[in-house]
Amino acid sequence: MIAYSKITARVHLDAIRHNYRLLAAAGGRIIPVVKSDAYGHGLGPVVQALGREGADTFAVGYVHEGVQLRATGCQGRILCLLGPVDDDDFSALTSESLIPCIGHQETLDRLDRRVDSPLNIALKFDTGMSRLGFRPDELPEILDFLKRRPHLRPVMALSHLAVADEPQQAGLTGEQCREFSDIVRALRAAGHALEANLANSAGLLAHEGSRCDSQRTGLALYGGNPFSGTEWAHLGCELRPAMEVSAPVLSVHPLDKGQGISYGHTYVADEDMLVAVVGVGYSEGYSRGLSNRGFMNFKGHRVPIVGRVCMQMTCVDVSSLARHGLAVNVGDEVHLLGGPGRGSIQAGELAEWWGTIDYEVFCVLGLNRKIHV
Ligand SMILES: *Cc1c(COP(=O)(O)O)cnc(C)c1O
Repeated sequence: MIAYSKITARVHLDAIRHNYRLLAAAGGRIIPVVKSDAYGHGLGPVVQALGREGADTFAVGYVHEGVQLRATGCQGRILCLLGPVDDDDFSALTSESLIPCIGHQETLDRLDRRVDSPLNIALKFDTGMSRLGFRPDELPEILDFLKRRPHLRPVMALSHLAVADEPQQAGLTGEQCREFSDIVRALRAAGHALEANLANSAGLLAHEGSRCDSQRTGLALYGGNPFSGTEWAHLGCELRPAMEVSAPVLSVHPLDKGQGISYGHTYVADEDMLVAVVGVGYSEGYSRGLSNRGFMNFKGHRVPIVGRVCMQMTCVDVSSLARHGLAVNVGDEVHLLGGPGRGSIQAGELAEWWGTIDYEVFCVLGLNRKIHV
């Protein structure tokens, strides 16, 4: 958390609960993905809200995030997508009863050396992401290894989709689904009664073939549409955004025709105008890439960024507000994300101006002070 900042990320837990119900209705059992502080939305409050909707298994990234989640009082199953990295991680697995994802023989060997009491594990396979996971052809070796280690209990098998949000690459997703289902069949044939999951948000919403016993969804729970800007955008249109971010106006002043503003004078007024200086900048995660590109929402009206985003300040052109009978005063709240009325800023749009994706917008702006409502 950035302590000195007046920036507030307001997180609507009811929107997250709504999205969970929507996803569960469409895809059955949901494992909410809450890595990286629940994509910036706040780990503890998000997990508690989802627990009230019936979620009983949560996926974090690192083992230490699992430890942190346990410390919030979470009683459910905790899946650690990244598996153990160091000695502390290995001892936490048993003491905090966390389920590590294991995707390399080397990690299996290390587990075997360090853990002698029974431990539930998840086996991760690489079916096309080329990042983490066993190759499918390693399966016989793994089965042979596990036969001789009854204390290592595979309770889950998973793989991760690489292009599920891209309509043009649906064929590859189909291949990943087929490959994964062959793997799961082989594991079950060898006597492992495990829970299989493959789908992420995009998989659940667009690829029926990727749905298994459970689905690991992150982005859609937070109201991000995995398909924004594509022909599949309608598939995510009922999701409700959960995060709104606002900052205060620090100063309001006229900018005369011909005057430049902010570093480099990259914007020069082409007529007399009124600008507001808003107290947010790149040190609070509001990217400098938004210079002269993005918009903010002042009481329901879009106001364009003029000049470069600075470390703790950004200038916006508020000349148009007088026409709506709106005065701009020091201390007024301006929204960078969400906000009231027709000017509400969607994460997908902000991401596009910024040159990134909504995942990054949430994670980065979520580092600021959060209020859960
Ligand atoms: C982050 C993550 C997910 C969730 O993906 P979304 O696109 O946010 O739904 C699922 N599985 C794994 C392995 C992940 O790392």
